[in-house]
Amino acid sequence: MSCLFCRVAAKEIPASIVYEDDRLVAFNDINPQAPMHVLVIPRRHIATLNDLGMDADGLVGEMVRRGAAIAEEGGYAARGYRTVFNCNADAGQTVFHIHLHVLGGRRLGWPPG
Ligand code: 5GP
Ligand code: ZN
Repeated sequence: MSCLFCRVAAKEIPASIVYEDDRLVAFNDINPQAPMHVLVIPRRHIATLNDLGMDADGLVGEMVRRGAAIAEEGGYAARGYRTVFNCNADAGQTVFHIHLHVLGGRRLGWPPG
């Protein structure tokens, strides 16, 4: 298994896991860009958003709802937070296993750089 986030999900690589179930894993980003920076991934390997099929609609919905729940648990729901999926080179995707960034705890600039 060569994919970094498949290996995190399989616990072959240590991570600070904040949530897991049979379909999802969420863990703290190793290089946080905000006081809260969590990555929500599916256990199933999907390389990019371009590879999503209709069969993943439920899974992506679970990822987004889990990101919102983690932000709420961290106390960021009312003040706000950001969720981001980067896709391919122009967006700066570096790990080719889809992941939802959940960032909160500081004022985030818009538009993004
Ligand atoms: P991307 O740029 O692909 O949207 O985001 C990849 C994210 O994964 C980056 O924010 C990076 O800091 C994070 N990351 C890369 N390698 C590891 C790792 O081994 N462990 C953890 N927890 N995060 C990682
Ligand atoms: Zn993977």
